[in-house]
Amino acid sequence: MSPTVAEISLPALRHNLLEVVRRAGPSAILAVVKANAYGHGAVPVSRALLAAGAQRLGVATVIEGVELREAGITAPILVMSGGFAGELPALLEYRLTPVLPSLETVMVLAHHVAGRAAPLPVHLKIDTGMGRLGLSAREVEALLDGGWPSSLRLEGVMSHLASADDRDATATEEQLVQFRAILEIVKRAGMAPIAHIAGSAGVLRFPASHFDMVRPGLMLYGYTPGAMKVNTLEPVLTWKTYVVQVKRIAPGQAVSYGGSFVARRPTTAAVLAIGYADGYSRGLSNQGRVLINGGIAPVIGRVCMDLTMVDVTEFPSVKADDEVVLLGRQGSTSITADNLADQLGTISYEILTGIGPRVVRVYRE
Ligand SMILES: *Cc1c(COP(=O)(O)O)cnc(C)c1O
Repeated sequence: MSPTVAEISLPALRHNLLEVVRRAGPSAILAVVKANAYGHGAVPVSRALLAAGAQRLGVATVIEGVELREAGITAPILVMSGGFAGELPALLEYRLTPVLPSLETVMVLAHHVAGRAAPLPVHLKIDTGMGRLGLSAREVEALLDGGWPSSLRLEGVMSHLASADDRDATATEEQLVQFRAILEIVKRAGMAPIAHIAGSAGVLRFPASHFDMVRPGLMLYGYTPGAMKVNTLEPVLTWKTYVVQVKRIAPGQAVSYGGSFVARRPTTAAVLAIGYADGYSRGLSNQGRVLINGGIAPVIGRVCMDLTMVDVTEFPSVKADDEVVLLGRQGSTSITADNLADQLGTISYEILTGIGPRVVRVYRE
C-alpha cells in the first residue's frame, strides 16, 4: 500500500520562483520557508529555491533555522518572528540573522554580543501599520540619536504590509510612505541597510514595494493571497491518499461518529487513509470532496482522526488501494487549497501549513 503523501513538484516550485524574479527584477529574493515551507518540507524546498536563484531564506523561529543549518544549508537565514529569549546561544551558534522588533530587543542583543570579534548582522523591524511587531518611527529616531550599538551591524530594515491583497490600495500606500520616511531617517544616520517590506501580495501588486529585497512565501507554492487571481503560478503540492476498504451501506445505516450521515439509498462507501490528524480538517465532515477514478466523491459522515469515508456509489470500479486526490489534479479535475479554504472559511495558507507531519513528502523532478 502506498502511504498518504504530499507530492511536491520541484519544477513547479522553480517556475514560481522565476515568476517572482520576473516581477521583482533586480531586487534580491528572500524565500520564506517558515512552517515547514508552508507544509512542503523546509529542507528540500530551501535547497531547490537556493539552487534556482533565491539568495536568502526566511523562517519564523530559531528552531526552524537550526533545522536548515543542521541539513547543511549555509545561505543567510533571517529569523522573522522575534522573541528569542533563551535562544540567543543557538541563534549565534547557528549563524542565524535575527529580526529585532523593539528597542528592548536591540539593547538586550547588543549587550549580549558586546565584545565579539565582528558586529552581528541584524534586521530592524518597523511597524508601519500592521500593528504587530516593530518599532515606531519615533523609536527609530530615538535609537539612532542615541547612537547605533557598535556590537550590531544594521544589515536590514524591514516592515510588513497588512492589506496588500485588498482591492483598496490606500492602506498599503500609506505604509509605503511611512516606510520611506524611516529609510530616510536611517540614511541620514549614515547607514545603508537592505530595505524590504513586500511579501507575495506586495510582489504581485505593488512594484513600489519591492525595494532592495522581496520576501515571497505563498506565491512560491503556487497560490495567491486574498482574492487575487494570478494564473501564471503553478500549485506545487498534490495531496494523495488511498482507499483502505470499500463497503456497502444499506438504506437507513449510519456512517462514522455521531451517525451524522444516514444512507437514503444503497450506498457504496470508500474508507480513505486520511483524517484530521493529517490536516484533513474535521470541518470537511459531510462537506469535503475528493477526486477518485476521474470523478468527484463527497465526504460522508464525520472526518475521523485517521480515516474518512466518501460516497463512491457512482464509481462502481473503485476498489481498495485506488489512489485518491485530496488536493491537486486528477485527470481534468482539480481541487485547490483555495477550494478547501473556501469550504472551511479560512485561507490557503492555513490549508497548506496544516498538512501534518504524518503525511510523507515526496519530491518529483
Ligand atoms: C510569512 C511572511 C512573509 C511571506 O508572506 P506571503 O504572504 O506568504 O508571501 C513575508 N514576510 C514576513 C515577515 C512573514 O512573516
